[in-house]
Amino acid sequence: MYSYEKHFDVVIVGSGVIGCSIAYYLAKESKGKLKVGVIDRTTIGEEASSGAAGMLAAQIEAESQGSFLELAIASRNCFPLLSQELKELSGVDIEYMKSGICSVAFNARQETELKNRMQEQKKIGLESVWLSKEEVLKKFPFLSPDLYGGFFVPEDGQVSSSRLTLAFSEAAKKLGVEFFEEENFEQIPLKEPRLNFIETNLSKFSAEKFVIAAGAWTGHLFNGLVPVNPIKGQILIFQMSPGWIQKNQWNTPIYLGEIENPQQIGCYAVPKKDGHLIVGATAVDRGFDKSEDKEATEFMSEYICKVFPEISHFPFKGFWAGLRPKSPDGKPVMGLVPGYKNIYAASGHFRNGILLSPITGKIFADIFLKNSKEPEAFSPQRFFQSKAIA
Ligand SMILES: Cc1cc2nc3c(=O)[nH]c(=O)nc-3n(C[C@H](O)[C@H](O)[C@H](O)COP(=O)(O)OP(=O)(O)OC[C@H]3O[C@@H](n4cnc5c(N)ncnc54)[C@H](O)[C@@H]3O)c2cc1C
Repeated sequence: MYSYEKHFDVVIVGSGVIGCSIAYYLAKESKGKLKVGVIDRTTIGEEASSGAAGMLAAQIEAESQGSFLELAIASRNCFPLLSQELKELSGVDIEYMKSGICSVAFNARQETELKNRMQEQKKIGLESVWLSKEEVLKKFPFLSPDLYGGFFVPEDGQVSSSRLTLAFSEAAKKLGVEFFEEENFEQIPLKEPRLNFIETNLSKFSAEKFVIAAGAWTGHLFNGLVPVNPIKGQILIFQMSPGWIQKNQWNTPIYLGEIENPQQIGCYAVPKKDGHLIVGATAVDRGFDKSEDKEATEFMSEYICKVFPEISHFPFKGFWAGLRPKSPDGKPVMGLVPGYKNIYAASGHFRNGILLSPITGKIFADIFLKNSKEPEAFSPQRFFQSKAIA
């Protein structure tokens, strides 16, 4: 016996930043004509999207030219307008700042790598600057002087990831989207090419189309058919004092090199508007475990105090860990699942789900409302090439 039965044009599973962005753009672009429902087994934005560092690191993270960099730039370009639009509709300030991001080199190898990356990006007309050691220290006087220079991208920036997710969901609600929290179900029934409904612990949702935006749980929900799995990321949170904030006027995230250890820690420091300073992050396969990795906490604390000595005076607020959704090639998986008529995947955004959320929402609005083709480079089809599909 269900508590209720509901019918929608589109049901989205997962209310992280990706599910909420898709819900928002579907409602906005259809002018409320599409009836959209979002279900989540926890509460809105509770998982990876709640504590991510919120960097819009389109260029700073791009290792090469190509479709992924183009997608990242297109999404980054949405933020100036989107932040105003969401503020007007939802009342939530996503704390967007076009603050730039700087990646600092601490040895000659990192300097060469970053300079090469910069040259590659310049060839395709993307803006960036190489800062000398003196220029880096002028901009960030609190860093240890033991550095070689920095790759600075003025167009990259940051938002509050939890506020962005909240703003998408609140705006979507205003446009008529219905959200259902704490509705649990374990696996998508995949026996028939067409899915008619999903049954949760409470209710039954039928729909014309289903979008699975379940983050790191996507692979599990598809029983492995869509290969997206969790990669744990742990960050540390420090508190900057009002006096220190006032004195330094710092809002540019800084990448601070890699820490040599098995947890593959790419170190960064991100000052947030609420006075928190986020230091990240590990990248390691621990299944669905989000508990504190004490060894990683020690490695990160020791390293950050070396490159950013003043941090040792900041109160430590604690750790946070989230599960990044990763596909085998580390790129998003967006589109119709091969072999099925109405089940779509929207996942695998890995390290860049906050950055890529607006473009993902727009892509799904184009697929459903304009019959556009899904972008080939990110289609689930790429993982099915060798399998015989009915
Ligand atoms: C430490 C760390 C730092 C990061 N920093 C950045 C950054 O600076 N910039 C950036 O762009 N990205 C960053 N990311 C990546 C970003 O957080 C993710 O890519 C993004 O949040 C993924 O969003 P999502 O909606 O796909 O997944 P999630 O936010 O995890 O949402 C998935 C939702 O699906 C729900 N769900 C799962 N199973 C079910 C089920 N059976 N039924 C119903 N609902 C279900 C979950 O409850 C959850 O709410 C970071 C991630 C981590 C861990």
